[in-house]
Amino acid sequence: MENEMKLRSGATIRQLGGEEASRKNYLTRQTLSKLHLMPSGDPVAYDVAPDGQIIYYFDPGRVVEAPPEMWYFPNARKDTMTLPSGTVIERMSTKNAAANGYYTREKLCRMHYEVVEEPVAYTLKTDKSVLYFFDKKTAKRLPLNCVRCGKDIRYKKKLCRACYEEDLAVRRAEGDAHRSAHYHMAREKVLFFDLELTGFYDHDEILSITIVDATGKLIMDTLVKPQKKKKWKNTEKVHGITPDMVSDAPSMKELEPKIRQIFDEAENIIAYGVSTDYSHIKYLYEGKEQEAFRDKIRCCANEYVRYITEHRPDLSHASLTDAMSCFEIEWNGVAHTSMADTVACMKVWEVLFPNYYAD
Ligand SMILES: [Zn+2]
Repeated sequence: MENEMKLRSGATIRQLGGEEASRKNYLTRQTLSKLHLMPSGDPVAYDVAPDGQIIYYFDPGRVVEAPPEMWYFPNARKDTMTLPSGTVIERMSTKNAAANGYYTREKLCRMHYEVVEEPVAYTLKTDKSVLYFFDKKTAKRLPLNCVRCGKDIRYKKKLCRACYEEDLAVRRAEGDAHRSAHYHMAREKVLFFDLELTGFYDHDEILSITIVDATGKLIMDTLVKPQKKKKWKNTEKVHGITPDMVSDAPSMKELEPKIRQIFDEAENIIAYGVSTDYSHIKYLYEGKEQEAFRDKIRCCANEYVRYITEHRPDLSHASLTDAMSCFEIEWNGVAHTSMADTVACMKVWEVLFPNYYAD
């Protein structure tokens, strides 16, 4: 319709005549400014001035006090000028204008905004010519163009649809090559592991550790007695490990030599969402040894995320359960026990990397 307009927020407002607007107690910027107020939200209606520029009406219930620099000039006479619509606007320094979110047309254009409303303030250039300021809040956001071709509007990742698809095809081909490559790994040398922790921070401690090799053989599955933490109510609800259950379990100190030996013999150590697990286990190694350990670590979740961004843009969640259902893999045992999670991770990995093993 002719006498409606859509705002950037998505709201649609109606064109009103001055009389109807005053009946509704709507205020223009000019009136607000006289009251040392400024709008805090979208305009509620608009009118079109004779020169075609928009005059917005604001709801007096949605206004805020204008900052003092807008109206407080103790030693200066306030300069004003009258626009063709009859609206009076004030002279303002560029700095004050910017502080209120007012910019010149050129500046807004560079920020990809189009001005539709009449100016809200002005300044004089050194040659005394007038420079108008417009309110960014009511300027229209222009669609941005593709950073590669510059021709079409953006779709994803700052690219237009065509450039994005082109880019995706390249990444997908790289990803497919990466996933289908032959890695010739011996199954006994590839380990999957999962830790249960008292919490997610570095100061939290390990409560259980499960290690399985790629033949499905259980290498280690033990509860661990933490040294400092006495309770972990929040994570207990998730993994079900209670303080009682670990009271007689070995400590990490006792398990360390065995774990190091297991990891040292492995070529790859894989977990689902490895960063938290890694940060709790990396202390087993120092310096160069830690680097070598890190080089063996692979993250199944990262690989799954890469796969879905390349092949399944319809999927946006990447928990282990999501990966399982994406590949229609059944759970083996009770989900979210570290044993079941470790086996699940192993299965997801094998779907992602069908030629990972030598056999
Ligand atoms: Zn493009």
